[in-house]
Amino acid sequence: AVVVVGSCMTDLVSLTSRLPKTGETIHGHKFFIGFGGKGANQCVQAARLGAKTSMVCKVGKDSFGNNYIENLKQNGISTEFAYQTEDAATGTASIIVNEEGQNIIVIVAGANLLLNSDDLRGAAGAVSSARVVICQLEVTPAASLEALTLARSRGVKTLFNPAPAAADLDPRFYALSDVFCCNESEAEILTGLPVSSPADAGKAALVLVGRGCQVVIITLGAEGCVMLSQSEPVPKYIPTEKVKAVDTTGAGDSFVGALAFYLAYYPSLSMEEMLRRSNFIAAVSVQAAGTQSSYPHRKDLPLHLF
Ligand code: ADP
Repeated sequence: AVVVVGSCMTDLVSLTSRLPKTGETIHGHKFFIGFGGKGANQCVQAARLGAKTSMVCKVGKDSFGNNYIENLKQNGISTEFAYQTEDAATGTASIIVNEEGQNIIVIVAGANLLLNSDDLRGAAGAVSSARVVICQLEVTPAASLEALTLARSRGVKTLFNPAPAAADLDPRFYALSDVFCCNESEAEILTGLPVSSPADAGKAALVLVGRGCQVVIITLGAEGCVMLSQSEPVPKYIPTEKVKAVDTTGAGDSFVGALAFYLAYYPSLSMEEMLRRSNFIAAVSVQAAGTQSSYPHRKDLPLHLF
């Protein structure tokens, strides 16, 4: 199975003609609620490709939390370790998007930050028997480190997505990552190098591999991704499909979820081939609106991906 130890966030999205100024009240023309949070997004994509999945997470004992757990279930994800707490609200992302597609976002991580050692002990069996464990940085670093440490000690493959990135990332994350996957801006924050081309990404990946990960992948939006491994430290560029992008929100999470699926269920494929297929799936996700709502299901994808 693919086990995700990570976040669930309810997206509260208002569409407006322009962004409000300080102290100003404006009227928007549309509002919708979406399911987000990097952890759950990645889990949903892996599940839709056919992975057996389990989400280790914490939401509030509130309507957003109840609805989120229902959403996980509807995606076929095990919620045995989706905890609910009365001590904080379900994580939210309040998002305002103007007509140019520019946005301002406030995240209140809430219950996500209360996922703790007791919770992880409860889920230790699931983590230990997984094929792949994925972590990000929308729960506490301590919870992610604990999950990756347990996975590593049991020989479970670890996929770490250092998002949102901070320049002072705990160095233990590198050594605990079998696969370390970030986007351009995260690679810039982590390395201090500019990353805006495959060549730049190759240089940044070399720095990151030097910190101890087995494989580094840097995604480059419409350009695809670059990979570099400890065993073969020459950057490989894997372009993606040319498509008409409608909404790229959550593309990185679609990519990570797809990669986890391949690592878990097609371990004999080369990393390059897994990345080609993950690129394809993420490129499908940018062609529809929304985050999880844009993630493709196995039945809608070409057979050559499976
Ligand atoms: P993030 O969503 O974290 O910013 P990226 O923008 O790097 O991540 O996108 C992740 C992956 O999604 C890319 O590696 C690529 O496979 C796919 N992707 C993103 N944007 C596009 C696009 N405009 N056209 C085709 N594929 C895309």
